[in-house]
Amino acid sequence: MCNAKNKLEGKVAIITGGASGIGETTARLFADHGARMIVIADIQDELGRQVATSIGVGKCHYVHCDVTNECQVKALVDSTVQNYGQLDIMFSNAGILSSSDQTVLDLDFSAFDRLFAINVRGMAACVKHAARVMVEGGVRGSIVCTASVAGSCGGKRRTDYHMSKHAVIGLVRSASVQLGVHGIRVNCVSPHGLATPLTCHAYGMPADEVEKLFEPQTPLEGVVLRAGHVADAVLFLACRDSEFVTGHDLVVDGGSPTAKQPIFYSRHIETSD
Ligand code: NAD
Repeated sequence: MCNAKNKLEGKVAIITGGASGIGETTARLFADHGARMIVIADIQDELGRQVATSIGVGKCHYVHCDVTNECQVKALVDSTVQNYGQLDIMFSNAGILSSSDQTVLDLDFSAFDRLFAINVRGMAACVKHAARVMVEGGVRGSIVCTASVAGSCGGKRRTDYHMSKHAVIGLVRSASVQLGVHGIRVNCVSPHGLATPLTCHAYGMPADEVEKLFEPQTPLEGVVLRAGHVADAVLFLACRDSEFVTGHDLVVDGGSPTAKQPIFYSRHIETSD
């Protein structure tokens, strides 16, 4: 089993969407757990560089990578292996929320295509290229994707987002079946709604107000879902603590019925991310 404090000692990890929110918090946790190198990949260059510098030069490095561009994803993965010897962990986390509250009746397919290019195609490109170098290097790596509770139920609005997160879970299940022969594990985390720049921007509210919106939706009282809770789940899936876990969707929802019983979910649809 892993050392309780240094669960990622010597490991090399890539985190997409690592400049902000869940990705940034996970990068900091990985560093706390002794990861040898964390490569943050994002399109917010200034922010990404700031985060990398604050984690530590020589411990964390920022790379511009738009996950919609497969060549950039390939270059990200190849340069990581070239510079740091191998890739042990891919946290494919970059994602966006729907740009409007569209239902299936008023789907805007240009917005739909853009969201799918990031949330689905980009996620698949990261899994593909991470798996490729893990197989080539004989690394029994861990790939973790960020899905959502929206990947397990329907929604009254944001049809494209719900569809995209269902697709992420399908990707994880298929890839885990296919990559098990190489000793590569593929799992996802599915957070309930939490306050990050993504949701604060979408709802036009500061973090404390977004938290007040989500908090009553979970039966677990006295705790508010924060990015650190999601990062803890990612760490579990990334390290040897989960050595026999693959193809799993680790829901981080405080026991919310919304992810399991869509009939309840419909009452909270405005804030389900
Ligand atoms: P966030 O906006 O803070 O972080 C997302 C990051 O992804 C940003 O830094 C952004 O620049 C980056 N990104 C966007 N498009 C990209 C692209 N094309 N290429 C590379 N990077 C790109 O939001 P977050 O809440 O931390 O979201 C992280 C993941 O968590 C997303 O996949 C999101 O769908 C998922 N999620 C969020 C919530 C929530 O309530 N915040 C709930 C469930 C799932």
